[in-house]
Amino acid sequence: MAARNLLRESFAKVVIHCGIAKAIRSLLWRDRVAIILYHDPLPEVLDQHLAYLKSICDIVSIDQVNAPGNGRPRAVITLDDGHARNEKLLPIFIKHGVKPTIYICSAIVGHARSHWWLDPSAKGAEVERLKRLTNKERLAALGALGYQQDGQTSPENVSGLSMAQLESMLPYVNFESHTRFHPILTRCDDRECTDEISISKREIEELISAPCRHFAYTNGNYGKREIAALKQAGYTTGRTCDVGWNDERTDPFRLKAFDVGDDSSVSWLAAHLTGIPLYLRYLRQSGNWKGHKPQF
Ligand SMILES: [Zn+2]
Repeated sequence: MAARNLLRESFAKVVIHCGIAKAIRSLLWRDRVAIILYHDPLPEVLDQHLAYLKSICDIVSIDQVNAPGNGRPRAVITLDDGHARNEKLLPIFIKHGVKPTIYICSAIVGHARSHWWLDPSAKGAEVERLKRLTNKERLAALGALGYQQDGQTSPENVSGLSMAQLESMLPYVNFESHTRFHPILTRCDDRECTDEISISKREIEELISAPCRHFAYTNGNYGKREIAALKQAGYTTGRTCDVGWNDERTDPFRLKAFDVGDDSSVSWLAAHLTGIPLYLRYLRQSGNWKGHKPQF
C-alpha cells in the first residue's frame, strides 16, 4: 500500500508540474461539469479538497449540471449512501459555502438499520460475489448470515444518518435518492427495480418535505430499464459512475462522475480530475469500460 501511495504521489506530481492538469482543465474541463463522488470522507480530507477545488473551478448544484457553461470549469459535490458520519462534514460545507448533494437510501437513513455490506452479520461475506447474485439470491445469502434488510439493528451498528442528523443538515444539503435498501438494480426483477426507484422518491420527499428529483445508481450499475423507471417515476437526472465531464449535450440520465476516493491527497485528487488514472485503469482492463467496478 505504501509503495502504491508513493507511486500515486509521484505520478500526481508529474501530472501537476508538467502542466498536464492545467492543460486538461482548459481543454477538456472548460465549460463542463465534473461531478465529484465521495462516500464517507473525513472532514479534514474534504476541507482540503474543497479548498483546492474552489481554487480551480466553480462549485455548482446538481440542478445546474446540464446548464450552458460560462467558460470556467465547474464541479458538483456528491456523496453516496447517507453515511452517519456525513454529519461531521457539515461545518466544512458551511465554511466553504458549498451545498452538496447526498444520495441517500430512504429505508436505511432515519431507521435503526445498516447498509447491507456494513452490517456485522455480513462481515466475512464476499461482497463482490454477493453483488453479482440476483437480488433474491443476495438477500437469501445475507439472511443465512442473520441480516434482514427490513429488520432492526442495535444502535452501535446503525450506519445511516438519523432523523435528527438529517434535520440538522437539511438547510445545507440537497438530499436525493440512492434507492431504498441499496440493491444492485440490474440484479433486481422488474418489480423490485421499480419499487426501489419510485418508492424511495416518495419516502425522501416525505423526509425532506421537498421534491426529490435526482438519483444515483447503486454501484454505478444501470441499463435501459433503470433509465425508463427513473423517467417514469419523475426524476430529472441519474448519476452513473461512468467517468467523464458533463455538459448540456450529456444525457441527464447517464451523468458521468469522478470517483476520486475518500482518502485521496490533494495531488491525487488533481491527478484524478485529469481522467488519466481512470484511463490507465481502462487500458489495464483491455479496453473494457464495463469492467470498471466502482465502489458503491
Ligand atoms: Zn452506494
